Formats: sequence, structure tokens, C-alpha cells
Amino acid sequence: MTTIATTNPATGEVEKTFDALTGEEVDRRIARAAQTFASYRTTALDRRAEWMNAAADILDREAEQIAVIMTTEMGKTLKAAGSEARKCAKACRFYAEHAAEFLADRRPADPRDVDARDAYVRYEPLGPVLAVMPWNFPLWQVVRFAAPGLMAGNVGLLKHASNVPQTALFLEDLFHRAGFPEGAFQTLLIGSSQVEQVLRDPRVKAATLTGSEPAGRSVASIAGSEVKTTVLELGGSDPFVVMPSADIEAAARTAAESRCLNNGQSCISAKRFIVDIGCADEFERRFVADMRAKKVGDPLDDATDIGPLVSERARAETEELVADAVSKGAEVLCGGERPDGPGWFYPPTVVSGVTPEMRMYHEEVFAPVASLFRVRGVSEAVEVANATGFGLGSNAWTRDDDERERFVRELDAGQVFINGMTTSYPELPFGGTKRSGYGRELSAEGMHAFCNAKTVWVG
Ligand code: NDP
Repeated sequence: MTTIATTNPATGEVEKTFDALTGEEVDRRIARAAQTFASYRTTALDRRAEWMNAAADILDREAEQIAVIMTTEMGKTLKAAGSEARKCAKACRFYAEHAAEFLADRRPADPRDVDARDAYVRYEPLGPVLAVMPWNFPLWQVVRFAAPGLMAGNVGLLKHASNVPQTALFLEDLFHRAGFPEGAFQTLLIGSSQVEQVLRDPRVKAATLTGSEPAGRSVASIAGSEVKTTVLELGGSDPFVVMPSADIEAAARTAAESRCLNNGQSCISAKRFIVDIGCADEFERRFVADMRAKKVGDPLDDATDIGPLVSERARAETEELVADAVSKGAEVLCGGERPDGPGWFYPPTVVSGVTPEMRMYHEEVFAPVASLFRVRGVSEAVEVANATGFGLGSNAWTRDDDERERFVRELDAGQVFINGMTTSYPELPFGGTKRSGYGRELSAEGMHAFCNAKTVWVG
């Protein structure tokens, strides 16, 4: 039985517990979602946009309050949590503004070519969509589904991670207070074992999941057996390639920033640093110094760069991965030792000499732990970068046009960032290849992912 609770990762204290909904309560909420959808789908886009902008206003206004809840539930720094709330507001405004354009009928062909007087594609909503979401960006992961989803006329059922129940309840309340009808966006406080009931319910039409590979496999296989659409955003072990022509100082600074983002717990953090031998010494020196300079501590303190990991288990898994690498010959250049005291803190850590025998070579490390690799030239850099089952984001640093083009073409990932770090924008599609999942979130693609692209032919 899952415990649904707020447990403060900075102290290890359980602050609040919640009862999971019963099967009957879940059923009632699905019924309400289906009933709401029947009328909500006909509401004018302008009306939805008004509500979405109202949600953005609330997020901006209450950013500091919700930030405290996020920090208390999962340990990100308060300043990062505040930025996340404001980023969500921006995404709500983006979809309020662009939904009409993204949902407009599209005429892909000259009607005469298809023997019609008129022919077009109309984007219609699917119905209630289940969103299974993780704790790491507890507002953003949800809003990037909810904003396009609600604007498209779908209704949402949120099964949030069991350790962020207060953020989950805030989200239901947010959309309700913004004006969306009751039932347009509901939070289901349920454990992962109750997800199957929701997925198999014929009134639920599709699902989106962000989280680990096992969770993704389970949701996708149940949804697949019900022939329902899914979008999966799973983990990543993003490469960060640095070539000698790059601005090495900026690359090292950005590398440390990316690796430590969200206390090291982001799917698009750069995790594997693949550096050409021509600049490896300089990069390594600067990168290790930048990692060491990060301040680990109380996430509520403005001066803190890195708060605790999300759970005791997360820290134990990180320690196991580092110990496995060290036992097989890797070297720890900084960090690697947990600090004394309460809370699940783990310092920024750089590991060099990582080889394919080590778990860290293949697995995602969800903590501020970087693997360093030395390579010779673009071909070897690409080979090491692609030697992973994941394919979410990727980064390459070079000022050489030919090299840039090769990285853009050859890195097997859902996104390639040149001379920068992977991040998400409402304006650009977001998603992965290989075991990082499929489908796209954000931009027009993210909205269309949960639409029926209906072909209309008029003779
Ligand atoms: P999980 O994948 O376990 O949790 C994500 C969400 O999926 C939660 O809502 C969880 O619910 C739910 N879930 C878990 N298992 C199932 C299942 N079998 N069926 C349906 N829903 C399920 O992530 P963890 O928090 O355990 O993190 C483990 C690893 O996942 C991390 O180390 C990281 O590698 C990866 N991860 C990746 C993220 C990303 O952004 N891509 C985000 C978070 C994690 P509940 O909380 O109730 O178990």
C-alpha cells in the first residue's frame, strides 16, 4: 500500500499524510471528468484562454507560497521552485495565446487534388486524459500537459507522485479557482497500483507519463492493451560534448549548472561529459572547481545551490552507483561522500575513468554526479554520446560549423543544444528517442498529441 505523504527531504520528517482514494471515489471522479468533458469540449476558445490566463495570474501571484510547498515536499531550492511556478505561468499564457492558431483547421492539400470542394484537418479533443507525473518538477511537468490539454478541450485526471500530494492538490485548486469547470482538472490521490483501474476505464481516452522506465513500460503496456494513446517522457543520461574550439570557461560553468539543476534530479541534466583530449585538462580543472563551488544546504536559504535528494532511497542508490564505479577503477575527483547530519544531502561529485563495466556508464544517475570521458575527435565523441539506451537531450560545444552540423545530424536524441544546456520552452517540442520515450510535449506538437486529427472531406 503506497503512503501518500509529505516527507521533508531536508529533515527526513513526515509532515503530513493523506488517505488514498477508494476505488469507488476514483470511479466517481472519472464519471465527473466524462460528464464535464461532454460540455467543456464545446466551450469557446476565448473562454478557455481567459481561464488559462487567470491560472497564470494565480501562479505569478502565489509563486512564493507554492514554492515553499514544493521545497518542503521534494527538496528543490526555494529560488528554483519560485522560478518553476513563474515558468508555468508563462506556459499557460503561451497556450492561451496560441491555441487558436494550433487548433485552426489545416488545409494540407489543394481540394481539387483530393477530388473535393473542400478538405481539411480538424483538431478535436480526445476526452479525459490521465497524467501520471513525477515529483522532480512537480508543477512544471503537470502544467506542460495541462495547459495544452485544457486549451484543446480535453479534461485532465492527475495521478501525481505519492510524495507531492500538497502540490497535487494545489494544481486541482489552481485550475478550479481560475474558472475552469469542476471536473475539468482533478487530482486523484492514489498509489501506482491504482493506476490500472483508471487506464482500463473506457471513459479515460489516453495517458501521458513522465517518470522512470518501469513506470512507463507498465502504463504503456496497459494502455496498449486498451488501444489508447500514450506519450512517455522517461529518463535521460544526456551527453555534453566539448570540443577544443569551444569557449571552455562557459562550457565548464554551464556543465556544472546543468548537472546540478534541481539538485541533480532532472531528466535533461547533462550527466555524461565527453571532452576532446585537446581541451580535456582545462575543462576538467574548471568543471571540478565549479562543481566544488556549489553550496549544498538548506533549500529554503537563498544562498543554497543544491538541496537534498528526494529520498533516503535515492541517496542510497546514488552511493551504490558511485561505489560500483570506484570498485571497478573509477576515480572520484570531487564529492562522493555524504555529509553528516539530518536530511538526504549528497555533494556535487565528478567521477572520471568511467567504463562500460560500470553501472554508471549505462544507468541514469539522478543526483549531482557527473561522469567524465576523454575522446579524440568528433567521431569518437558521437560514439560515446550515443552509447546509451537513452535519447532525451544532448549538448555539444563547438565553434566549428562543420562539427556543429555533424553533432546536429549524428547525436541520437530528441533535442540537440549547441553551446548551451538542454532546457524546455513552451515554443519548442520536447521529448525523446530510444528508451527515453516517445511522443512530444509542448509547442503545437504537444497539443496535437492529445487531439484527434480528423480528416474532413466535402464533395
Ligand atoms: P517513478 O517513475 O516511480 O514515479 C513517477 C510517477 O509514476 C509517479 O507518479 C509514480 O507514482 C508513478 N508510478 C510508478 N510506478 C508506476 C507503475 N508501475 N504504474 C503506474 N504508475 C507508476 O519515479 P521515481 O520517483 O521512483 O524515480 C525513479 C527514477 O525515475 C529516477 O531515479 C529517475 O531515473 C527516473 N525519473 C525520471 C523523471 C523524468 O523527469 N524523466 C522524473 C522522476 C523520475 P508513485 O509515486 O505513487 O509511485
